[in-house]
Amino acid sequence: MNSKSYNKAYVLFSGGLDSYICAHMMKRYGFDVELITFKSIFFLRNLETGKSVIDVGEYKLNRIVIDVTDEYFDVLENPKYGYGKNINPCIDCKIFFLKKAKKLMEDNDVNVIATGEVLGQRPKSQRSGPLKNIKTDSGLEKHLVRPLCISSLTKSFLEDIGIIHRERFEEMMQVHGRSRKNQMEYANKYKITGFSSPSGGCLLTHKEYCRKLRPILNCGIRDKMILSLLKIGRHFLLSDDPYKTVISGRNEKENDIIENFKDKQIILRMNMDDIPGPLTLVYGERLDENDLEKACLIHTYYSDFKNNNSRAKLIDISSGKEYNILYNEDDAVSLIESMRSKH
Ligand code: SF4
Repeated sequence: MNSKSYNKAYVLFSGGLDSYICAHMMKRYGFDVELITFKSIFFLRNLETGKSVIDVGEYKLNRIVIDVTDEYFDVLENPKYGYGKNINPCIDCKIFFLKKAKKLMEDNDVNVIATGEVLGQRPKSQRSGPLKNIKTDSGLEKHLVRPLCISSLTKSFLEDIGIIHRERFEEMMQVHGRSRKNQMEYANKYKITGFSSPSGGCLLTHKEYCRKLRPILNCGIRDKMILSLLKIGRHFLLSDDPYKTVISGRNEKENDIIENFKDKQIILRMNMDDIPGPLTLVYGERLDENDLEKACLIHTYYSDFKNNNSRAKLIDISSGKEYNILYNEDDAVSLIESMRSKH
């Protein structure tokens, strides 16, 4: 290979501090750096797909954002290295990202990929065994560099052929383990700002989101619209085979999302203008009378209807159909408790 083809490097750029520092170190090293960010419905970053320019300290770096939601289901379904505490398949996820980057690299005659991974920073995916697996399984043994912790890693192919000299990264900064002190000092020194907080960027690590996601995955549902509804409202699972759920809005914003749900299912509201309440979406195939009665009970419980043991009227705002139920608060509470435990 010609050394000229090593001028450029891709940096996997999540938007977190380590990825900013990785990009900065690679640029300081002398590479022409381009950032790659993967977005999916499961990651909380609300990014436009396509090309943009990002400030990384004093550098303005090109970034490409690629939506991988559709392909990501395969990673989620049967991860070779299993899940973390929730439905986060972190090792397989990194392998998947790197494989995607590899394809881009091959298409564009780039031969270096850098990540901001730090040995010992995460309990599962950033131990030395998993870091090796990630490198091998992604097929990037000859291309991958991890500048933030290079001094703790065995010599890589890029060092063997003289493209990378680890001392130069060691002089810039090195990190080992969970402390972020060195990274913060580096960020302050080079005025790196704009990075996202260390926790919370991935819904697959959120216990409550995963509680709602699990039955959807079990049913093989891959509908992005349904998945986006998991981010809002109170959820009650009527059945997971077939998947039927009740989602009740908690505020005006969530009610608006429910009202605009494109596959209009049944959307309930109290049929009395002077009784405020949520909008409640009843979603699923083959909804029967029993399902609808449960949904009405849940909806009424979260409305301002206070007449225990009396009849409540609700309306489906999509079809105009009316429902009339005998409301009992104790029944509603026990139903809600039993349905929550089904998730
Ligand atoms: S936290 Fe989420 S995005 Fe990050 S590696 Fe794990 S699964 Fe992937």
